[in-house]
Amino acid sequence: MNSFIKNNLSDSNARLIKQIFLRLRGLFYYGNKYYCNICNKSFRKFLDGGFDLKVIKEREIIGAGRRTHICPNCQSTDRDRLIKTFFDNNKNLINNNIKLLHIAPEPSLNNYLRKLSNIDYITAAKYHEGIYYPEDMVLVDLTDMHFSDSEFDFIICNHVLEHIDNDKLALSELYRVLRKGGTAILQVPFSNKLSETYENSDIKTEKEREEHFGQFDHVRLYGKDFPNILSNAGFILNVYEAENKLDKTEIERLKLFKDEPLFVVNK
Ligand SMILES: [Zn+2]
Repeated sequence: MNSFIKNNLSDSNARLIKQIFLRLRGLFYYGNKYYCNICNKSFRKFLDGGFDLKVIKEREIIGAGRRTHICPNCQSTDRDRLIKTFFDNNKNLINNNIKLLHIAPEPSLNNYLRKLSNIDYITAAKYHEGIYYPEDMVLVDLTDMHFSDSEFDFIICNHVLEHIDNDKLALSELYRVLRKGGTAILQVPFSNKLSETYENSDIKTEKEREEHFGQFDHVRLYGKDFPNILSNAGFILNVYEAENKLDKTEIERLKLFKDEPLFVVNK
């Protein structure tokens, strides 16, 4: 047996063990208080996740921070469940035969979307040495994608742009590969305390990035001007707000992030 086969067997064993662990953990936290709309299970408690940093509190960064929001069963986060509420309220967008590009796919949404047989589902991520990528993951640089113009009907790029040095170039690539009339979810963490997006080329180390941008691998902190950044890239903004679609009890059961809009755009 060569090492390639051995490695892949151990990867599949590790995934199976993880699935069993998550299922048992989900059962342990079973209850009625909270609900995950992705795995359709209810829990007495969600789990803690996220970073506890001074800048996140000071800037009141939306979509970031230490909080109790992770599904014990499928590991969905509040931002994954927010996207799921958007799908549930816009079924026409994902019920047809569409080609969907999911950048750096979150495991819970990935599992949900790949089961929808009407969707030609393409997952893509940037290659990083030492990371295991599933066989069907397309390895791409978001600033230089090998996809054709107008190839996709729908794109999900959730909390990715804040990691990319040249986000304008990434946005122009996302615009290029989206078909006219297509829809994209381009979500980022952002601060309403900043009138303009904060970038600083002097910030280079992980520690500095944590202090300034709220995460060790973020290269900027978006401000109130993020919608303008999307418009300048050519997109038509169509912000989705869960509070206009769901009642307060439901939002609390799903443990969505307070006041988080979803940046949905069209081409
Ligand atoms: Zn779940």
